[in-house]
Parts: sequence; C-alpha cells; structure tokens
Amino acid sequence: MVGAGIAGTTTAHELALDGHEVVVFERRSTVAEVASFATGPLVAPGWTADWLGDQRRLRLPWATQGAGMRLPRLPPASEWPWLWQWSQAGRTERQTPAQQLVHRAVRYSQQRRQDIGAEYELDHDRSEGMLVLWRDDREADLAQAALNSLREADVAFKVLSAEQARALEPALHPETTLHGAVELQGEAVANCREFALLIRSESQRLGARFEFDTLVRSIAPQVDGRVELTLTPAGPEAESRNERFDAVVLCAGALCPPLLRPLGLRLPLRTVHGHTLSAAVREPLDAPLSAVLDARSGVSISRLGQRVRVAGGHYFGEPPAVPSKQALTLLYKVLADWFPGAMRLGGPKGSIQEWQAVRAAMPDGLPLLGATRQAGVWLNLGHETAGWAMACGNARVLADRLRGREPDIDLGGFAPQRLGL
Ligand SMILES: Cc1cc2nc3c(=O)[nH]c(=O)nc-3n(C[C@H](O)[C@H](O)[C@H](O)COP(=O)(O)OP(=O)(O)OC[C@H]3O[C@@H](n4cnc5c(N)ncnc54)[C@H](O)[C@@H]3O)c2cc1C
Repeated sequence: MVGAGIAGTTTAHELALDGHEVVVFERRSTVAEVASFATGPLVAPGWTADWLGDQRRLRLPWATQGAGMRLPRLPPASEWPWLWQWSQAGRTERQTPAQQLVHRAVRYSQQRRQDIGAEYELDHDRSEGMLVLWRDDREADLAQAALNSLREADVAFKVLSAEQARALEPALHPETTLHGAVELQGEAVANCREFALLIRSESQRLGARFEFDTLVRSIAPQVDGRVELTLTPAGPEAESRNERFDAVVLCAGALCPPLLRPLGLRLPLRTVHGHTLSAAVREPLDAPLSAVLDARSGVSISRLGQRVRVAGGHYFGEPPAVPSKQALTLLYKVLADWFPGAMRLGGPKGSIQEWQAVRAAMPDGLPLLGATRQAGVWLNLGHETAGWAMACGNARVLADRLRGREPDIDLGGFAPQRLGL
C-alpha cells in the first residue's frame, strides 16, 4: 500500500483483518501527517449536504462572500474544463444521486467506525449529534432540497427552532441571530489523527507492517500480474530497492497522479485547499458541546476533548507557503459569531494552531475506490470534503472487492472505471 493517511491506515486494517500480508509505505515518519493531520472532525451522515445550493458555485478572485469554490487567482484556460465539470456536477438535478451515494457511504462508514471502536475499545475524542445553523428564513428555504436528499437517503435528522437548537448548544452566542437548525444524529465528531494512530496499532497487531520515511517512486506492473514498487528510503546514503507484490492500493491522496501517469492512468485530480484553527477550550461553558456547521459559510466549529477546532475554506489549487490571512479571518469571524468565548486565543505564542492542507478532488465530486484497468493497481483517494467521514466504510468495501466478496453496500458509483481509469 502507498500512503498512511486516514484512507491508508483504515484500508491496511481491513486488509490485515482479511488475512492479507500488508505492507504500508509512507514517505513521512508516522501516520496522518498530511491531509489527515488537523483536519475537520465531522463524520455525521448528512453533513456534506449542499445546504444552500451554492456548494459548487465558482467564486472569482474578487468575490468577497458566499460558499463554493474560491479561485484565489484566475486559473489558466487549461483548467476551465475541469472547473466547469466540477461546478456542473452540483447542479440540482444531477446532484441528487451523487449526494445520496455520499450520504450512504458516510452512514455505512459511521457504523463500521463504531463497530471497530467497540471491538478494540478505542479511546479517542468524539461526540454525538451536530447542528447545521440557519441565520435567516431564506437559508431555511434554500435547505429544502438538501433535506429532501437526506430523506431519500434515509439519513436521520430533525429540524429545530432556534430555542431547541440553543437548548442543545447552550453556548451559542445569544447576540447572533439564529433562525433555526438541523440536527444530525449519531456519532458526528471524531478525531481523525487519533483514530489513525490507534488503528495503525491494531493493524500492526494483526500483522500489517508500516515502513515510514519511504517514498514509493514508481509502480511497474509485471507480466505475471504482480506489481513492482521502487522504494527510496529517507537519508543521504539510502539506496533505492525494488519489491514485488500481488497488488498495490494507492492511498496517496493528492500525490497519486505522477505514480499513475506512467501506467497510462491519467487522474483528473485537482487540489482544493482549506484551513483549520485549533486551540484549548478557554471556558467550557462557552464552548460547543459537540459541533455546529454554519450553513452560510460552510465553516464548522467542533469540540475535540479539551480543544476546539474551526474548519473551512474551499480554495482551488495549492496553498501558499503560509495560510492566507483572508482565509483565516473567515474562520475567526465565524467562531466569534457563534462561540466568542470558546477558545483560548491569547496566551503563550503558538497556543493556536493555524493549519492548511489540500483535499484531492475529482471533477464529479466523488472519490475513486476500487480496481483500475491496470491489473493489480487499486485506488482509494480523491475524497475531497469527506475523506475522514467515509474512511472506515470505503476501506471495508475495497477489502471486500479485493477478496471477491460482494460488499454490504453498493458503492459502484465510486469505481475508477467511470473516469476511464
Ligand atoms: C480544512 C479541511 C477540513 C476538512 N474537514 C473534514 C471533515 O470535517 N470531515 C471529513 O470527513 N473530511 C474532512 N476533510 C477531508 C479529509 O481531511 C481528507 O479527505 C482526508 O484526510 C484524506 O485522507 P487520505 O488518507 O486520502 O490523504 P492523506 O492524509 O493526505 O494521506 C496520504 C498519504 O500518502 C503519503 N504519500 C503520498 N505519496 C507517497 C509516495 N509516493 N510514497 C509514500 N507515501 C506517499 C503522504 O505522505 C500522506 O501521508 C477536510 C480537509 C481539509 C483540508
């Protein structure tokens, strides 16, 4: 396997559970160091819904407001066909089946994650239930399409009045107008990195081997159907070596395209970056009990044990060297709107973690999960907004397919074949 983010660690676990000999190669020195590090913790079925119908709108550099994909600068002409396809995939009439597939995948994953947690008695930060907040009646009206989509996918939710929402999250700022909310049920918040560390230990106990500081340079299919990986360990003296395997599963996130291009598999993958803020709870009475998602901005505020995490932003392309002030300002503003006293913002330098990372995105907004047309080469990547929420279920489905078993859930819509891969 290539990559030990949340997709790689959960897949390694399912494969080891099925009795495969698993080796995971990771170029970093431990698990969950890239997109899965300080990511948003939302895992509730339904949280990915297009709450105001503007999730797939393209926002030009000079636009100051609104959700959707922001273009920090005008992209070259060569990028417009991809962007056009991405924005069209969200059109209401086409959005429904794809959104519902994601809702089902997230729900299946929620169940799988809970089963794994109970089986191994995993102890990580998590909480039940979350609220999607509407600031005015227009937002409530716009959300009706998303609610219909949840109904059709059998996702449990409740529409709440402002009073009912404030009763569930008593620290919501009384001075910010709240029209109402949607409550999403079941496990809604979970710490991705903690889970990755725990599941790595369980996978190792089942016999999986993790080789860190090892870059997979290339993949070469062999005539006997096996695949040969060229591996380069870190260090000035280190020499590359080749190893052969029955199959390779690529969980390398945004870094997959160069590994697949020489095999004739051209991934239409683009990067979309976003940000999080994390800091210690200043005063528990002023902090969220679980999580809220501000429908207008798409920014979430979650409680992770003794910390609060604010997550959001959808910016096309690679991030700048340091997180942009403008992007972080939005997160601080939404935090101040809903939970002004929640985070310890002052204090010793470095007490606030400002983080940015890229999401790997496909033009139709769905991940790539399963075998490619190249024998022995499998994919689990391109999850864009919900790689953590889908991780445990997608890993189980991939493992079932690899051993020729019919999965519990039909995620055929995620198959790489749909993009000719
Ligand atoms: C701001 C933000 C907020 C988010 N909020 C949420 C949320 O609330 N809920 C949710 O479900 N999702 C959320 N996501 C998305 C989620 O973080 C990602 O979908 C998920 O972490 C992707 O996991 P991954 O394992 O595919 O990728 P990664 O975690 O990036 O792992 C890929 C790994 O592959 C390794 N690798 C790459 N190439 C090679 C190579 N050649 N050799 C060896 N190793 C290699 C990398 O080092 C890396 O460790 C958010 C993302 C962002 C940026």
